[in-house]
Amino acid sequence: MSAEINIQRLHSKEVGFKETLMSSLSLPMADDDAIDAAVVKILAQVKERGDTAVLEFTKQFDRLSVDSVSQLEISSQELEKAYQSLPAEQKNALDIAAQRVRAYHEQQKIEAGCHSWEYTEADGTRLGQKVTPLDRVGIYVPGGKAAYPSSVLMNAIPAKVAGVSEVIMVVPTPDGARNPLVLAAAYLAGVDRVFTIGGAQAVGALAYGTKTIPSVDKIVGPGNAYVAAAKRRVFGTVGIDMIAGPSEILILCDGTSHSDWIAMDLFSQAEHDELAQSILLCPDAAFIEQVQASINKLLPEMPRKKVIEASLTNRALLIQVQDMAEACEIANDIAAEHLEICATNPRQWSELIRHAGAIFMGNYTSESLGDYCAGPNHVLPTARTARFSSPLGVYDFIKRSSMIEVSEAGAQTLGAVASTLAHGEGLQAHARAAEMRLKK
Ligand code: NAD
Repeated sequence: MSAEINIQRLHSKEVGFKETLMSSLSLPMADDDAIDAAVVKILAQVKERGDTAVLEFTKQFDRLSVDSVSQLEISSQELEKAYQSLPAEQKNALDIAAQRVRAYHEQQKIEAGCHSWEYTEADGTRLGQKVTPLDRVGIYVPGGKAAYPSSVLMNAIPAKVAGVSEVIMVVPTPDGARNPLVLAAAYLAGVDRVFTIGGAQAVGALAYGTKTIPSVDKIVGPGNAYVAAAKRRVFGTVGIDMIAGPSEILILCDGTSHSDWIAMDLFSQAEHDELAQSILLCPDAAFIEQVQASINKLLPEMPRKKVIEASLTNRALLIQVQDMAEACEIANDIAAEHLEICATNPRQWSELIRHAGAIFMGNYTSESLGDYCAGPNHVLPTARTARFSSPLGVYDFIKRSSMIEVSEAGAQTLGAVASTLAHGEGLQAHARAAEMRLKK
């Protein structure tokens, strides 16, 4: 018999269920102030002393000591060599993932308002919107504890599809260990320059620029608490995509799936880190017991069982609901980063979902397929921010300018309207600028 893993159980019928659920969703933020204070100092140093500070922090935090920041840049030849030297199976998998991510984002560019448009009014006035890609973007690829080639593809490909001229990637390489798959992914995604720096110093270098590292217009990509705090601090000097918290999965299951599949999907978030959150909503009490049994059975064989167990006991929830419709209502309150609907008719339930970063429908759609190769982006809003934000996409790498060309006839009607409103606001120059164009 495997040992019982202690996971919190809730029932939606219990008194105070909603309050208990909401408090379980919020994160303990004990270290936030200390991390923010450290980040403020690092950013100030990078802003003031540029390359010298970047070199010092890279030595301190990544144990990598070189004489100049240019030695931390990886040449395009080295990126290509990393790709060409990959074992055939890895190369093929990376090729397929990159091709699928590119195809999805090319479609997104067509569908998601990423093109300029214009219309003409009866009097000849033309109004529209001009869409322009960002000039230069920085992508942060985490590298402190693990390597994430998939993050390279997910961040760089939409930028390139949007038409960004220059993509600068930063990735820490603790002790100087460069990950060939990460470099190969950078080559495949068309990244222009790569620097092996990380943490708040990399975010600062991209935001302010140094002698060697060019400043960018926007910084995207996930990272640890130092990276998140630094992105929050440089926002305004540059754009940022989002502040990513620990990963989350919410599974809605009608009890018709395989309990081992559900257990493994819960593990696949839990193995990210101790603060990741995995939640099951299910109307079938017997199925919840089967999932608990599958968890107990499968955990001992997982190489990352310590992290998974800590995450499950810290933050996971197994929740019994009255029916699937109620499960959908609760899912909207949770607004999870990843939402799996493991049910015989998933589309019946997905229609009721308003808030989720990504919705994975049907028993064959494991969330892990989306992490690597389904095509949609895996950089998703966490911590309930799916209520108001979207996955990283091509639209994050473009901006819009309003286009206004008023005809002589249009200036007569609009001029009178603007003049009246400007007088109402007491702005005489505004009023006269409109009036001067009126025919006497
Ligand atoms: P990281 O690259 O984010 O952080 C490493 C850097 O942190 C180091 O280079 C160092 O500069 C800085 N650092 C570490 N300790 C410090 C200290 N005491 N003081 C100042 N700076 C310090 O790599 P990581 O640590 O492995 O974290 C990666 C994170 O990104 C994980 O939480 C992971 O779950 C997350 N992630 C999210 C996604 C996603 O799509 N949401 C994808 C991949 C990774």
